[in-house]
Amino acid sequence: MVTPRTGPAKASAAERVRGFDEIYADFTAPTGTGQASRCAQCGVPFCQTGCPLQNNIPDWLRLAAEGRAEEAWRRVEATSTLPEICGRICPQDRLCEGACTLEQAGWETVTIGSVERWLGDMAFANGWVEPIRPRAERGQSVGVVGAGPAGMAAADRLRSAGYGVTLYDRHDRAGGLLMYGIPGFKLEKSVVQRRLDRLAEGGVEFRLGVDVGGDLPFAEVRAAHDAVLVATGVYQARRLTAPGCGSSGVVAALDYLIASNRKGLGDAVPAFDEGTLNASGRRVVVIGGGDTAMDCVRTAVRQGATSVTCLYRRDRDNMPGSAREVTNAEEEGVVFEWLAAPRAILGEAGQVTGVRAQRMALAAPGTDGRWSSEPVPGAEFDLAADLVIEALGFEPEDIPAMFAEPDLALTDWRTIRTAGRTKATTLEGVFAAGDIVRGASLVVWAVRDGQEAAAEIDAWLSDRQRAAA
Ligand code: FAD
Ligand code: SF4
Ligand code: SF4
Repeated sequence: MVTPRTGPAKASAAERVRGFDEIYADFTAPTGTGQASRCAQCGVPFCQTGCPLQNNIPDWLRLAAEGRAEEAWRRVEATSTLPEICGRICPQDRLCEGACTLEQAGWETVTIGSVERWLGDMAFANGWVEPIRPRAERGQSVGVVGAGPAGMAAADRLRSAGYGVTLYDRHDRAGGLLMYGIPGFKLEKSVVQRRLDRLAEGGVEFRLGVDVGGDLPFAEVRAAHDAVLVATGVYQARRLTAPGCGSSGVVAALDYLIASNRKGLGDAVPAFDEGTLNASGRRVVVIGGGDTAMDCVRTAVRQGATSVTCLYRRDRDNMPGSAREVTNAEEEGVVFEWLAAPRAILGEAGQVTGVRAQRMALAAPGTDGRWSSEPVPGAEFDLAADLVIEALGFEPEDIPAMFAEPDLALTDWRTIRTAGRTKATTLEGVFAAGDIVRGASLVVWAVRDGQEAAAEIDAWLSDRQRAAA
């Protein structure tokens, strides 16, 4: 306890709003080992329970503290296919670090995520991340529809086990929301790309720009492979229903973030260049309180918005987004209107000029652990805006209709129904993982689902091979 908690170096707000680079630096060796040495090596490591991958956190922290970084890395990669990415973008305050005994005892958590990221970046820099080399080719193949973190995790494990793997994605780049949703200031694209490169070098085939169900019938994917994994994420944006919401200048969060990420990757983006999806010089209001809303407000600041306000119907303690990201946004100049819900979009000649908001009050605890809110009668106020970004969450698309597979069963939430841990859908040889099963969730859960799906597909294909022999 003589070593206080220290996070990685963080760029000042003035410095970081000038661009889209990650705002945190890696630990340097003395800080990393010192921070790892703060771990109390608990007999019952609650941090591990708080991590969806049940990473062997105390083991790698001890090895890192002893200066045995490569051995620490081997423990890290044993349970996770994207550790340096999770180390960057997991909401650790709600997962491993929130559960850490030190945090609970008032000593401040061990900086688990930053150590994980540091080990991962060191592993890439030192060549400890080995290429995928299957011990033997299995002679069977798996088609993975969706190249986000769930698909990437599954592809990694399946290819390592010797299966031929083809990743299909409708975007022209793989990575899913890691590439096109999450902005560079949280996750630089080169960090995603080096993982994709490793998959390609290991023999994973990429078929990009292919919309399965549109360009390529799902039946053809099924026919081409011995098993199929559906990892398509959730993309139907929830939209506002308030009066005036069809006005010009009201845009969906993901359209806005994809345009910004594409621009950063050097693509031509006409909707950005002609201003529709560009906050430069505009007064921006973002509606919502999740990670997507936080990414939109911070992107708008970097694009040069004249003001950025976030409207959320509950208070700070009851918002779904990471507390760390709210603090970062506040430091960067974002104004939060807590307990405020949109009532109407104001406009002139079809162009948005503002948002009429309704003041709310906390009402009662909800089933998700957060309090619900209700309108305060007669308490309304107006905010001026030239650009309104709706970040209200996502629903699944109609996958059975898209894939022309009416027998693909769904849950009441329209996510794909799977038989629990087996990840098997109601179609023979078709499995599903990630947000399309869970609903909008987190990268770390997508990784876990992808890894588990790979193990289940391996077991299922091995059984079939044995039965056919
Ligand atoms: P996705 O990442 O959505 O990938 C699905 C892929 O399938 C996409 O590439 C898509 O193009 C492809 N696809 C879909 N349909 C088809 C089709 N018919 N044919 C071919 N391809 C198809 N989580 C965190 O842990 N930390 C964060 O900081 C964080 N920030 C976020 C910020 C934003 C803006 C958003 C939207 C989400 C954020 N999340 C965050 C959540 C996280 O990104 C998701 O939970 C995770 O990416 C889900 O992984 P997935 O593989 O299931 O789906
Ligand atoms: Fe923590 Fe996420 Fe790493 Fe698990 S994967 S140890 S939750 S940062
Ligand atoms: Fe170390 Fe915290 Fe995990 Fe205990 S809970 S083993 S102190 S990281």
